[in-house]
Order: sequence, then C-alpha cells, then structure tokens
Amino acid sequence: MNPAVWVERQGRRRGADPAIAEGARVHATWGAWASRTGALAGGLHAQLGLAPGDRVAIVMRNRPEYLEALYAVWHAGLVAVPVNARLHREEVAYVLEHSGTSVAVTDEEHAEDVASLLGRVGSLRDVVVAPGERWERLAGAAGIPLVDLAPEDPAWLFYTSGTTGRPKGATLTARNLLLASLSYFADIDPVAPQDCILHAAPLSHGSGLYGLPHVARGATSVVPESGGVDGDEVAALLRRWPGTSFFAAPTMVTRLARDPAVAAAAPDHLKTIIYGGAPMYLADLEDALDVFGPRLAQIYGQGETPMTITALTRADHADRDHPRWRERLQSVGFPRTDVEVRVVDADDRALPPGEVGEVVVRGDVVMAGYWNQPEESAQTLRGGWLHTGDMGAFDDDGYLTLRDRSKDLIISGGMNIYPREVEEALLHHRGVRAVAVVGRPDPTWGESVVAFVVPMDHAAPPTADELDRTCLERIARYKRPKEYRVVEGLPTNNYGKVLKRELRQALAAGADDA
Ligand code: AMP
Repeated sequence: MNPAVWVERQGRRRGADPAIAEGARVHATWGAWASRTGALAGGLHAQLGLAPGDRVAIVMRNRPEYLEALYAVWHAGLVAVPVNARLHREEVAYVLEHSGTSVAVTDEEHAEDVASLLGRVGSLRDVVVAPGERWERLAGAAGIPLVDLAPEDPAWLFYTSGTTGRPKGATLTARNLLLASLSYFADIDPVAPQDCILHAAPLSHGSGLYGLPHVARGATSVVPESGGVDGDEVAALLRRWPGTSFFAAPTMVTRLARDPAVAAAAPDHLKTIIYGGAPMYLADLEDALDVFGPRLAQIYGQGETPMTITALTRADHADRDHPRWRERLQSVGFPRTDVEVRVVDADDRALPPGEVGEVVVRGDVVMAGYWNQPEESAQTLRGGWLHTGDMGAFDDDGYLTLRDRSKDLIISGGMNIYPREVEEALLHHRGVRAVAVVGRPDPTWGESVVAFVVPMDHAAPPTADELDRTCLERIARYKRPKEYRVVEGLPTNNYGKVLKRELRQALAAGADDA
C-alpha cells in the first residue's frame, strides 16, 4: 500500500481542514495538499522523466516542502531517500551515489552544495530547489493517479547515522512503513484528526516516520519556522496547536524541560513527547517527568526496524506506585505488538531473563535489507532475525534493559564493563553535566576504563578523587575509570548521539583533549 493514499483520502474527506502548518500559519489544507501531491507526482514523471522505482533524494531542513516532496515521491511510485541536511557535502555525495539517486530536491540553503554534485555523482541528473520557481512548475503539471506500491516495494531508503562507519541504506518497504504506523497506534498513542505532530527533530529520521501515523489519521503536521527546536518557539507552538506530540532525542527533552517558557506552556496542549534514539539518564528523566507530567513515551528502535522494537509507554512512566518504577524507567520497555524480540548469545541461542546478550528482532516492520549490500544484509538478517548490535537483558516481567552497543562494551581483566552503568554512576555527581565512558587498549588489562567528563562549571571541575568516590558508592571497584578527562563537550553526530568512536580515536592518537 502506498502511504500517499492517506493524503489523497484526507483530501477528499476533510478538504478544508489544516494539513500542514509552518509555525502558527496554515501552509496547506488537506484538499490543497492532496491536489498538489498528485500534480507534483505528475511533474516528477512528465517534466523530470522519472519512473516508478527511481530514487529521489530530499536534502533540506524541515520545512513544509519537505512533506510535499516526500508524499509526491511516493504518489509517483518513486523511492524517497531522505538525507540529513546537516551532513557534510561529501557525506551527502556518498548517500546519493550509493543509492543511485536520479533527482535531488533541496532548499535554497543547500542548493549550492547539492548542485555541485551534478556531474560528480554519476546517477544524479537534476537538482530542484523548493520552494522555488521550478518546484512551482512541477506543481503546475497535470495530476496523476496514485501509483501502486506492492507491500515489498522499497519506499524509503533510510541511511543509518553512521556511528560505526559508512552509512548503510536500510531499505524500508511500503509494508515496513505501514507496520511502523499501525504499531504506533497499538503501543504509543491513538491519533485523532484534531491532533498535531510537531516536527522539531529532523524529518529525515524519527520525526518523519512518526509523521506517517499522523498523516494517516488526518492530524496536522506542524513544521517550526526555524526548522529546529528553539524553546520559545516550541512554547509558542504548544500554545497555538492543541493535541501536540513530537519526537525528541533525550538531550533535547532535557533542554526543553529546563526551559521555563516550555514548562509554562506545556501542560495545556502537549499530548506526548516520544523520546529515544539514545539512553536517557534517570535523573534527567525524573526532572522531565516533573515538568511535563506523564506525557512521555520512550521508544527503542533502529532505522533497520523503523522506530519499532520496544516502547516504555506513558502509563509505565506514570506508574509511580509500582515497586520497580525506577528500574522500569531505566529500561527501554516492552516489545512492540508487531515484533518478536529476543536476547541471544553468540550462537543465536535465546537467553533467559537476566542474562545479557544481543537483541534480535523479527517481524514485518523489519527492513528488507541494506540497499545494494547483499553481504551486510545477509549477515545482519541471519536466521531471519535482525541483529541489532545492541546488548541487553529482559527482566522477569518482559521489560528490556539495554546495556550498550556490543562494540562499546569494555572488557577489562576479563570482566565485562558496560559504559552506561559507569556513566549513570558519574552523573550522580552534581558537578557533572555530561559524561561518556570508553575503553582504551591496555597491555595488562586488555582495556582500561576512561571517562570523558563535561563539568557543570568549567572553572571548578570535579576532581578525580571526588569522581572516584561517586563511583565507589554505586558500582564495583573494578568498573571505575582509571582516568578522568575533563572536556569542553562531547563529540556528537547530527542526531545528537555521542560518537564514542571519536573518543576512542582521540585516546589512541594520544591526544590530550578529545
Ligand atoms: P538509528 O538507526 O540511527 O536510529 O540508531 C539506532 C540505535 O540507537 C539503536 O541500535 C540503539 O543503539 C540506539 N537507541 C535507540 N533507541 C534507544 C533507546 N530508547 N535507548 C537507548 N538507546 C537507543
């Protein structure tokens, strides 16, 4: 099923209601969006010579035209390649080349960079800037009927954020997108036409995926004018738009919770903040719950199984009387309705509750494979299960707690040390704003533990002795860092994930400051 059918359907049924908003202003009603989608699709075929199955990249910051492009691409039976606009030009070049993209839709801000790839990226034939004169010319074409997509047809090439190396294109089919949308209703939230989704995070990632169930139900997609997350802007939009949900990385949730303007505006119109993509530390989560109330839901997912492995529901967050409430807040919740989730050993044998192993996932939401990478696909999907590379353990109630990505695990003196546990301990020190723990090769121990600490006050960072004491109060002696490095900040990728690889490289290079 083609997801663009939802736009067409809402266009018929609720033509005059707001479909896309830019800030406080309605950009398009459902009626306008539906006819524009058909026309743009017609233009993509007739004016740009694209045919079903061709890849069209979208390289732009969040803006209404992003949504116009995404759904027109689908309406035309093309494959969308949403590219994070904050990537470096060389990284964009890689994704376009690898996906065999024929046409890129971009915005004024990125036009020069993307146009410079014409002639360099072999498959790239054309670059269209939206909003712009050519975009309007495309929208002036005769509308075409929705092109059929079979369930197994690729719809979205989701390039992974590349914390480990070259990004890989998870091939998400029409069926994958449908399942991700339906299981949003099953496990996260029902959605009503009066609701809104605020695209505060990049549409090329989680926010775009969460857009789908909202479009399906005819809710309004609200794109902030700044294209990002500014506290005052979010506060103003929460006042303007009722029933608002949005996806945010944990660091963003923490930032918003500390913003007095957001805190004052939040309760009235905020429905749910869906957070995930990286661990949210307990202290930050408790603070966010104090500000937002039980309007938080956590998801654990991957591009490879779009945002759908487990969820910690709003009810789990609210259930303060539960004897294991805090433990549960540190988990990633319970398997989603449409997937099987197991924890397995190195030979893919299922492990009982309490034992740590690799998390594997099976279900109709799991990607078809990596685009044009048969070996990596076979390896990752071996035995019919997606091997996530995440380490975790179930508890007796069926809640999954993640430890770390297998490659982040530190093995010191034959003992497994999970960096997250050490980070959680160090965050109890009031002088610590952020921390990342990694392993450094060590001739005696195999690896030794090093903590990169961002202090609250750079003029008076906590001392190694104090940090040691904080650890010793909470975790086993052998887990505590052998060295603490005070740093200005931690290296993160474009989605806010800490790049431990860079920290390890800095250590290997003997640099004093990562
Ligand atoms: P991506 O495919 O870029 O979304 O990255 C997916 C990875 O982010 C997962 O494999 C996990 O390592 C991590 N991740 C996603 N959700 C969570 C979560 N709720 N808690 C901790 N880590 C997460």
